Amino acid sequence: MKRIVRELFSRADEARGPGRLCLMLDFDGTLSEMAPTPEAARFYPPARRALLRLSRLPGVTVALVSGRDVSDLRRKAGLTRAVYCGNHGLELPGFRLPAPVEASKRAFRRSCRPALRLLRGIKDRYPGAWIQAKRFSVTLHYRALPDKAAAAMAAELRKAARALSRMPGLRAVEGKKVLELRPRAAFHKGAACLLLLARRGGAGFYMGDDVTDEDAFRALRGRAVTVFVGPRGRPTAAAARVPDHRAAAALLGRILKAAGEEE
Ligand SMILES: [Mg+2]
Repeated sequence: MKRIVRELFSRADEARGPGRLCLMLDFDGTLSEMAPTPEAARFYPPARRALLRLSRLPGVTVALVSGRDVSDLRRKAGLTRAVYCGNHGLELPGFRLPAPVEASKRAFRRSCRPALRLLRGIKDRYPGAWIQAKRFSVTLHYRALPDKAAAAMAAELRKAARALSRMPGLRAVEGKKVLELRPRAAFHKGAACLLLLARRGGAGFYMGDDVTDEDAFRALRGRAVTVFVGPRGRPTAAAARVPDHRAAAALLGRILKAAGEEE
């Protein structure tokens, strides 16, 4: 942990402009303990305390970068001075994303309603399936179904995915007992973080625990200190690792202390 903090502050010393630190953090599993449902997730208090104080320091940006909707993330985190980035980078209030990405977001929103109607029609015939609708993604989950019903649903969804992919702006992605609809444009947490870092300046730092965070680790390679939260043995593009959300909070505490000592 000492090494991570040392590296971050040596980058901060080299940073030009008013920004000293740009701390970008995933929320679920990184700043919160993994919970059975997204609603049940709670900000881990030591992490929240450290980030609240860091966000009040001059020259320090605290950005939360999540798959959640920004409105939901803001409510969960409650940090008034943080920058919020939702939907895996697609939602970044105050920033204009590249024109094809913005166009793709608009097309997605237009196709969302008929797509949802189609998916709900299928879901209603399979008790146990449920739909999570966010601003820029719709996910049908069916992992709770018995094997036979799940197989029947998967077959039906495969057909539906073809129809859905023909709707303007939609991309249907089949995953592990999920079907997800997303905008067509390729954009991810890493692309959003590069925009953030360019605007805010300072030494970059990114910490996250999930596959979507790997996009950020890769995009920020050489440009930020990257920290994976999770067990040893899982491959990651991050430069450093801490085992869990408790250690992640401890690291933030150390960054706060180092930043405070500089004041
Ligand atoms: Mg996460």
